[in-house]
Amino acid sequence: MAQPQIALSALGKLRCNFAGTVLQPSDPEYDSVRALHNGLIDKHPSVIARCRSDSDIGASIAFAREHGLEIAVRGGGHNVSGRASVEGGMMIDLSLMKAISVNATARRAVAEGGVTWGEFNRATQQHGLATTGGVISTTGIAGLTLGGGYGYLAGKHGLATDNLVAATVVTAERKTVRASVSENPDLYWALRGGGGNFGVVSSLEYRLHPVGPTIMAGAIAWPISQAREVLRLYREFTESAGDELTCLGGVGHAPDGSGFKVAIIGAAYFGAMTDGERILRPIKESGSPLFDTIQPTSYCDLNGMFDIAYPKDMLNYWKSNFLASLDDNVINMIVDMGEDCPSKYSGIFLEHWHGAAARVAQDHTAFHHRREGHNLLILSQWEDAAAKEENIAWARQGFARLKPFSAGARYVNYLDQDDAADLAGPFGGNYARLAKVKARWDPENVFHLNQNIQPANA
Ligand SMILES: Cc1cc2nc3c(=O)[nH]c(=O)nc-3n(C[C@H](O)[C@H](O)[C@H](O)COP(=O)(O)OP(=O)(O)OC[C@H]3O[C@@H](n4cnc5c(N)ncnc54)[C@H](O)[C@@H]3O)c2cc1C
Repeated sequence: MAQPQIALSALGKLRCNFAGTVLQPSDPEYDSVRALHNGLIDKHPSVIARCRSDSDIGASIAFAREHGLEIAVRGGGHNVSGRASVEGGMMIDLSLMKAISVNATARRAVAEGGVTWGEFNRATQQHGLATTGGVISTTGIAGLTLGGGYGYLAGKHGLATDNLVAATVVTAERKTVRASVSENPDLYWALRGGGGNFGVVSSLEYRLHPVGPTIMAGAIAWPISQAREVLRLYREFTESAGDELTCLGGVGHAPDGSGFKVAIIGAAYFGAMTDGERILRPIKESGSPLFDTIQPTSYCDLNGMFDIAYPKDMLNYWKSNFLASLDDNVINMIVDMGEDCPSKYSGIFLEHWHGAAARVAQDHTAFHHRREGHNLLILSQWEDAAAKEENIAWARQGFARLKPFSAGARYVNYLDQDDAADLAGPFGGNYARLAKVKARWDPENVFHLNQNIQPANA
């Protein structure tokens, strides 16, 4: 979309009562601030509004609307699709909004929209508390939670969104409203899985649970030659896993960048340490592992365990799908894909969605897919810009081959740039209700740079 020119005097007016900073392309920090996690995204907003308050957010929305600028909202900047930025329009950047307050007695935490999971976990773990959050510490709490939010605690405590008890939202009409079970319950329902469609979420309040301080968790990897047995072991383990155990499995490369192809299982047990040791022993004693970090560890260390494998600026292209089942055909295809993988940073991963995350009714929150099973993620990641076509083709081909095994549902947070037309996948039977809520809170679709829900009255 062509974007209008903005007069300097207009920007000066915006800056007047702005607590944060307003950047233009000529500012020295512009390039570092506009960069997202996915190095494949190279968008140039006309204005970056680095907000520090609800009032900044409201002023930014008003400014963008007045000047006909498309709005992109950035929490942690991790979404692979790059919709947290915009070519020409305004990026509302929350990455300076880092306040976190923990009420240990009430087991609640309120965190602003620019907080990452590493920051959140460090604050809550000081009190021996945590909530379900992302597997990587650098992911933003806001985008992850609004889209669902899978993590190691999902089996025991549900998705991140299931633990969201309230949110503060700045709307398209620049009103600041609360959403909770008793305040704007339609908005509260829609925020829990409907993504960034309804306004800018300036803070999120979570339910917390006792976790740790020490848990039994880590990762164990075998040479890819043992991958079929490893993925069958992952399947067997997840079939009998209780809520306390959450496992990830897959085929990829050693996280140290050596390029060694491996089959890997990540596991976290949130119960008595002796039970964790007993339950995880068969994994540890299986085959001839290359490395095994499953041991007593802290929740924060677990959260940072795979960070090294997903650095900022790496080029990313993802495809994912919930699987109808994990039979031997699927396992064989995953292993074949791993063997053919063109980049030493890519992998094909399985997340076990189960327990508390799977027991919620499909229409209780906007997050629709509540069946126990495995989410398949083809995570194509490379560093050489010239290798783009090859790495995208690898992910697309594998996705096409595995499509017959799809459960017909997709995780909105893993959709890439070219997945936008496929929205029945993530929102399923909740789409019509979401479209009505959208019509109430954003009838003009001001917030459309996301996995967009069209207002029902459009
Ligand atoms: C390395 C890596 C690991 C990941 N691991 C996990 C994982 O373990 N579990 C999981 O569930 N997902 C995971 N994800 C996916 C993640 O959930 C999504 O990328 C999510 O969108 C990230 O949120 P963010 O705030 O960092 O992203 P951003 O790119 O900043 O935001 C994504 C979108 O969310 C919306 N949004 C963000 N913040 C706000 C806000 N405050 N108000 C309104 N709308 C907002 C906007 O539409 C925006 O375009 C991972 C992603 C990466 C790159």
